[in-house]
Amino acid sequence: MPELPEVESVRRALAPVVGVPVVGVRVARRDVVRDEAGRRRGRLDPAGLLAGDRVEAAERKGKQLALVGASGRVVLVHLGMSGQVLLPAPGGRVSGGHAHVVWTLGDGRRLVFRDPRRFGGIWMLPDPDALAERWSRLGPDGLAVTGADLARALGGSRRAVKAALLDQAAVAGVGNIYADESLHAARIAPTRACASLGRADWDRLASCVRSVLRGAIRAGGSTLRDYRLPDGSAGEAARRHRVYARAGQSCPDCGGEIAGMLLAQRSTCWCPSCQH
Ligand SMILES: [Zn+2]
Repeated sequence: MPELPEVESVRRALAPVVGVPVVGVRVARRDVVRDEAGRRRGRLDPAGLLAGDRVEAAERKGKQLALVGASGRVVLVHLGMSGQVLLPAPGGRVSGGHAHVVWTLGDGRRLVFRDPRRFGGIWMLPDPDALAERWSRLGPDGLAVTGADLARALGGSRRAVKAALLDQAAVAGVGNIYADESLHAARIAPTRACASLGRADWDRLASCVRSVLRGAIRAGGSTLRDYRLPDGSAGEAARRHRVYARAGQSCPDCGGEIAGMLLAQRSTCWCPSCQH
């Protein structure tokens, strides 16, 4: 499932689209597009998908991506489990089908949203205020989160810290992979109750969240089943995972065996020797 580094890698790769007119849009699967209220039915106004508009900015908060039009209209993209935003080379093909929404751009290229498993989708928002309102429900972005932010949001909670890190209202953009990786880097056991962590722990954890996410962005995001950069290539960050999906293998820090468990219904990998 794409997390902050994957979505940020997509956002950066969409830089060539910024400033380019959107000539038209074709929607092959009407039910991947929702209006501001989340409705999927009704007449679909192509202007709501930036047809006849121009992309002025590609923005991100947490795992959400937004294309902001010169008109002020916003196309908000959730990649969900398997969503992709692709920018094939002119004349290039999109392999695998499922091209659910296809924009034709003024420079002859196409921008494609495909989501084979359809847990993601597109929301048409009327203006930047609607986007700001939505994003105000999210916690601080993972690249900017501080120990004070985490202590304030989670400090009194009896939840396990791993489960709490997945709460997008506490910190936006961290999912299962980077929660495990950040806790290993911070040497904090995923099962620890939030309320047992002190301010120094929150500071160290926030710093590790930021650096783990930054490192993964440098590697272009993780190669998961369905994740692709807009040019169709896979990212390199998976090779850098230190505990995620490595249960039974040895810890790169201490050589001890990495443990695997289910925590809050999510697979969780950690090193019992390093993390307390
Ligand atoms: Zn270890």
